[in-house]
Amino acid sequence: MARYTESACRLCRREGEKLYLKGNRCFSEKCGFDRRSYAPGQHGQKRPRVTNFGIQLREKQKVKRMYGLMEKQFRLLFERAERMKGITGHNFMMLLEMRLDNVVYRASFALSRKQARQLVSHGHILVNGRRLDIPSFIVNTGDVIEIKEKSREMVPVKEAVEAGREIPDWLRVDNEKLKAEVVSQPTRESITHPIQEQLIVEFFSR
Ligand code: SF4
Repeated sequence: MARYTESACRLCRREGEKLYLKGNRCFSEKCGFDRRSYAPGQHGQKRPRVTNFGIQLREKQKVKRMYGLMEKQFRLLFERAERMKGITGHNFMMLLEMRLDNVVYRASFALSRKQARQLVSHGHILVNGRRLDIPSFIVNTGDVIEIKEKSREMVPVKEAVEAGREIPDWLRVDNEKLKAEVVSQPTRESITHPIQEQLIVEFFSR
């Protein structure tokens, strides 16, 4: 599958804010955005012309990059949100949050979504007791996600648990057993990163 392989920090600089793509490094003085908070490239320090389309595009790119999706996956998930009852923007954010790789990240079993995605695709994650290696799998309320017993001693997992990030209220996490239960659907309010999903809806409705 296609994958973005260039510098993650470049993406934060392009979007003009920290997207927290590199785990602990994002909170250290090595953060690329903290050191150079202007867009990358030759014209990065020039003030860009801002149009409505540009604002919508940047919001779409920001969220896509935050969750580590490629364009096609992102669009397909949006189309799924459109087919659901309720507010499309909220449905879309809920679907993004309930992707298995994001749940592993939110449960603080990985330092970044990229690392969480690797844990899933390398077969370290069980869902309801069965190995599941599909990062895009959408979990349901009541599902139990855990780190496979043999993988619990892995250094990245230990580091992530020790980092002790805040756990959202829709997850119940047992740090001893490295187990997380989805107790409810994520609400819009549980996503604290500033996101204007309405701009993404407008972008895809052009
Ligand atoms: Fe973004 Fe993290 Fe790189 Fe900072 S260290 S620029 S937050 S990916």
